[in-house]
This record gives sequence, structure tokens and C-alpha cells, in this order.
Amino acid sequence: MQIHLDRFSSLRACLAGLVLLCLFVGTTQAVDPQPSPIQSEIFRLQDLSETQVAESIKQLSELKRSLPADTALEDQREALIALIGLYLNDDQNEPAGKLNAELNALGQRYHDNWSNAMVLNFQAAILRGEGKLQEAKKVNAQAMQLAKIVNVKRLTSRVNSTASVINSALGDFQIALQYQLAAMDALEEGSRHDDLQLINALNNIGNLYLSLKDPQMALEYYSKGTRLAEKMDDQIMLGMLAGNRGYAYSTQGKLTDAIKAYTESLAIARQLSDRRSEATALNNLSDAAYRLDNYSLCLQYAKQTLQLVEKIGNSGLKASGLVNLGLCHMGLGEVQLGAGEVNQGIDILRKSNAKPDIESVLGQLATAYEKAGMYRDAYKAIVEELALSTELFQVDRDRAVSELKAKYDASQREKQIEVLEQKNQVQSVEIKNKGLQRIIATLSTIIAIAVALTILFLYRKVRETNRNLEEANVKLAHQSTRDPLTGLLNRRAFHDAMQFRTQITERRSLGTTTPPPHALVMLDIDHFKRINDNYGHAAGDSVLVELSKRLTHVMRDKDMLMRWGGEEFLVFLNHIPTANLPQVVERILISVGGRQVPFENNTMPVTISAGYISLQQGDTSEVDPNWEKMLNLADSALYMAKTRGRNQAIGIKVVNVKKEEFDALLEGDLENSIKQGKVIIEQIAGPEQHEAMVEH
Ligand code: GH3
Ligand code: MG
Ligand code: MG
Repeated sequence: MQIHLDRFSSLRACLAGLVLLCLFVGTTQAVDPQPSPIQSEIFRLQDLSETQVAESIKQLSELKRSLPADTALEDQREALIALIGLYLNDDQNEPAGKLNAELNALGQRYHDNWSNAMVLNFQAAILRGEGKLQEAKKVNAQAMQLAKIVNVKRLTSRVNSTASVINSALGDFQIALQYQLAAMDALEEGSRHDDLQLINALNNIGNLYLSLKDPQMALEYYSKGTRLAEKMDDQIMLGMLAGNRGYAYSTQGKLTDAIKAYTESLAIARQLSDRRSEATALNNLSDAAYRLDNYSLCLQYAKQTLQLVEKIGNSGLKASGLVNLGLCHMGLGEVQLGAGEVNQGIDILRKSNAKPDIESVLGQLATAYEKAGMYRDAYKAIVEELALSTELFQVDRDRAVSELKAKYDASQREKQIEVLEQKNQVQSVEIKNKGLQRIIATLSTIIAIAVALTILFLYRKVRETNRNLEEANVKLAHQSTRDPLTGLLNRRAFHDAMQFRTQITERRSLGTTTPPPHALVMLDIDHFKRINDNYGHAAGDSVLVELSKRLTHVMRDKDMLMRWGGEEFLVFLNHIPTANLPQVVERILISVGGRQVPFENNTMPVTISAGYISLQQGDTSEVDPNWEKMLNLADSALYMAKTRGRNQAIGIKVVNVKKEEFDALLEGDLENSIKQGKVIIEQIAGPEQHEAMVEH
């Protein structure tokens, strides 16, 4: 928010200026009386206030006090009017009010309309200062009625100027401009006193053009004023005009020119120790920095403004400082804090009914909300701004144009907001889409991981299954060649081995040295049925397991032990010299019957019977695949051992039959063949047993 520099001294312009023309006097040309010597002194002291307000007030007060009782009404009136004007200029409403009562008494006493008009004029000015604009307007209208009667330019110019100030504050800029132009027309360049008033008037007119949103016209008046002020070397006016030029440039968007002008104004204010102008310049610099999006610089200036305002206590500046501070905060992203500060500022402006200012602040607030992406709040501010704007521009063509423009701006903004909101929606859809994409990506990843894990799991499962299968196969292979109870090779394994042996032996037979032949020993546990019957099936099993161990123990590594059937074992003795065979078989008998088999804290006597045969018999070759025939012979020998009393082995020692007679030998009775001398056997006794246990 920017602030115009206008000064109540414009009131003074009409007090002292030569009034040549008045808007409300019609065509009659009134001529003001020539100033008396006292009045000239009063004008001089008034001009002193340009640089030294306090000194000016002090000297004028002294002059007034020193006036004799019989002083002319005109001189008394002029002294009072000058002093009241100075107090009001210096925001000292209390002494101004007291002196105004004095002026009122003077007017009553002399029935002087001039005094009475000025009393009303000052009352209006005080009311305006208090923000009571409508009352001020009414009171000043009464002053204007009296001024018409008095019909002196200086007075009429004075009330016109006040009317301008009040209407300007009310936002009726066109009317204010006409009053101000009328007030200015009463002033002509010539004396220093009049020139000072003229600069003031030019500045005020510039301000009004600015309010009418015509910065170009405003700049023309400010430039006229600046030229005149430079000529007079009036630093106060130069500072004020520089500030207002900055304001006009800023309105045109020429921010660099604006900052230059504000900086000039700030320097002059500091040089003159004019804190109000300094605060105004700082405030406007803050505004320019804000418009340049330099929020931190903006914040810095706004804070300096408010610090200074704390000392001088100007509500308009405080409002503006708060608005700027808030806007800077909003720009820096502290939207809530900022909006709060802006609204504090607006509240102050509402109290003084400063509608044009509220309007412009609402515009800035809307923009700040827009920038923060808070389109609803922005729209609310714009609607309020539009309402105010419509209210403010109501009289003529300019108003109509401005209104149209405002409406156009508002509808454009509304469209912009719609576009932005649509954009926002599109963005939110995009964001949603992105969210969905992210979810899809995440899900895909999860699915991919799940699939990978499943594959890995399945792979492991397959591998495990394969391993299990392998193990099962190994087990199966084991099971197919092993007996589950004893773990010994089974009948099938022996068949396989015999087939394999045949192939090996075929190759070996090509060699020169002949290795010893193999031998088969068939074993059958004696009276095993009894063991089962007497001790239970489990005892029978444990006997089978125990005997397997014992038999394995007496066997060489290269021999093979098979569980041939229920309680039958077969021993394949690998390359065993025939002479050694009885000895090995005896060891087998002893391993079983030599000591009792333990079972459940008890022991059982167990014996075994055997029939054995060397695989090389007569002219039968070992390579003969008819090992099964040999086995049959061994089995027959075993049977013989059983019949001969058990716990013994019968060995087929010599078979004196030709190859072709062998089958007949097998089919016939072994006992007969022995008797016929075709077969020679040998008997090996098992270890001696307790009688009762050996025989049933
Ligand atoms: P012999 O001295 O004449 O051979 O008499 P035996 O009782 O040993 O012969 P028999 O053929 O009459 O009985 C064999 C018994 O062996 C019959 C059967 O119940 C038993 N048997 C076979 N296999 C097993 C086994 O795996 N466990 C147990 N506990 N008993 C078995
Ligand atoms: Mg048997
Ligand atoms: Mg048996």
C-alpha cells in the first residue's frame, strides 16, 4: 500500500492567498482587501512554518497575545485563523479546538460571517481528521453557504479546498478535483506566500488525478509543483512531490523510477527530520520492493515504517505499514500471519472509512492470495474490492469508464481464477495420476518382487523336491538292494552283482594267472520259529539284526552278505582258496552260536546251520552263469545240515560229474549222490550248545 503526501497546509493556501476566482461565486468578481501590516507579519510567520512549525506557532501565539484589545476584527480574525491552521497542520486538535471557540466568540460578537464560516470550516477539518467524513461534509457545506454571502476569494478558496479534502477522503475524486482546481485558481504565482500555497495545490491536484487512476496527469501536476518548489528551494515541498512522483510511477509500473523518487523523498525527510515523511517514504519503498517481488527488502522497509509510526502515532501510516508487512509475509510464504496483518491494517482503514485505500489494499490482498494459490480467498477479496470500486466511482463518464474497467478487470480476474482453478484441478488430477502411477509402479515392484520370490520359492521347492526325489531314489535304490530290517543286501542285489561279476570274470579270464574261486555259504537260523513263539516277534527281529552284525563282522570287506529270505542268509566269499573255506564257515557258525544273543535284560541261545560250496567244481567253470545251480547244491547241503542235527555246516567238497550231468545231480537226492560217490561232502560242527537248547 502506498500513501500520498498531502498536507493540511492546503487549508492555509486559501487563508492567505489572493482569491481571484471562486467556483461557487458565480460571475461576480470580488476583490480581497489589501493586507494590513499585522496581516503581512502573520503571513510571514505562517511561511516560517514551512521549515519550523513549532517556532512559527510560538511566534504567532506571541503576536496574538500582544495584540491590543482594540485590535481590528480583521487582524484578530487573521491571527486566530493562522494559528488554528498551524495547530491543525501539526495534528494538535486540542489547542486548535480552543482557539476555534475563540474565533466563534469573535464572529458572534461582531456578527462576522467570515469568522463564522471559518469556524465551521475548521470544525469540518477537525471532523475530517477524526474520520467523521459525512459530518465534516455537512459542516463544511454550511461554511460554504456563509462564504457565498461573504463572497471573498480567499475565504471561498479556503472552503473549496477543505471541501476537496473531504470529498477526496470520501472517494469522490471528481468533485474533489473540481473543488481543488477552484481553490487553485484563486492562487497566482507572485509572492513567496502565494507560491507555497500554489505548490500545495498542484500537489493536491496531482493526488486527485492519481486517485482517479490517471498517473500521467498526476505526474504533470507534480512536475509543475516540483519546478516551482525548486525555484523556491522549498525542501519540504520537494520531498513531498518526490514521494508523490514515486507513487505515480509505481502506479504506472515504472518501479525503478518510483524507487528513485521515493529514495529522494526519504533523503529529504531525514535531512529535515520530518518523521512522518520519512515513514511515508519507507512505507512506499516497502510497497515498491513488494511489487518487485523483493519480499525480504519489502519486509525490512515495512518494519522500519512501523517502528517510526510507533513514535509518531499516525493511524493511516500504521494501517499501510501493517498492510505492507502482511503482504511481505505472504510473499515469503507466511500466508496466515501475513493475511492477519493485512486485515489488521484494513480494520484501521475501515475505522477512518478510507474506502479508496481499502479498495487498493483489497486488490493487493487478492493478488497475494492468488500468488499463494488460495484462489477462494483471492476471489472474496476481489468481490469486496469490486463492490468498493463501484461505490467509489459513480458520477460521470470517467466513473462509468472506470466502473466498466473495474468490472472488466474483475471479470478478467474471475476468468483468471477460473483458469487457475482449472489449472489447479488439472494439476491435482495430474498429481492424482502421478500418485496412481506411483501406486502402480509400487504395486508392479511388489508384484515383480512377489513373482520373483514365488519363482525363487518354486525354484527352491523344485530343487528341494529334486533333492528329495534324489534322496527318495537313493533310498529307493537302497531299499531295492537292501533289507530294511538288517540293512543287508537283498536277493536282488546279489542277482545284480552276479551279473556284473560274470562280465568282469569274462574279461579277467583272458589273463594268465587264475585267482582263487568264489564260494557260496547258505545259512538258516535254527528253530527260529521257536524264538518268535517264546520271546515274541520283536525278539526274533532283534536276533536277525544281531546276527547280521555278527556275520558282517566275520566277513572280509570284499565278501558279500545277503539276507536271502526270512531267517536265511547268503554269504558270497570272494576269491577264497578252497582249503580256507571250512575255516571261514566254522568262524561263521561260532559267530552265531558262540555266545547268546541279548534281548531285554535277557539272553537267548541261537544257532545256525549252513550249506556251502565253492563255485569251481570239477570241470564246471566259475564263469558259468549257473551259479544258481551251485546255490541249489549249497541249499541241499544246508538241508542236510538241518537233518543231521543243526548247528553245523555241510560243505560240497568235490562234485564228480560231467557238465552235462550236473542238472540231473541237482534234481536228484544229494544223499544218493554222496552214496554213489558223485559228491563228496565235509561237515563242520558249530559251537557246543546246552543240550536242551540245541534240540527240541
Ligand atoms: P528250522 O531250524 O528247521 O529252520 O526251523 P525254523 O523254525 O527256523 O524254520 P521254519 O521255516 O519252520 O520257521 C521259520 C520262521 O521264521 C517262520 C517265520 O515266522 C519266521 N520269520 C521269517 N522271517 C521273519 C522275520 O523277519 N522276523 C521274525 N521275527 N520272524 C521271521
Ligand atoms: Mg528257513
Ligand atoms: Mg530256520
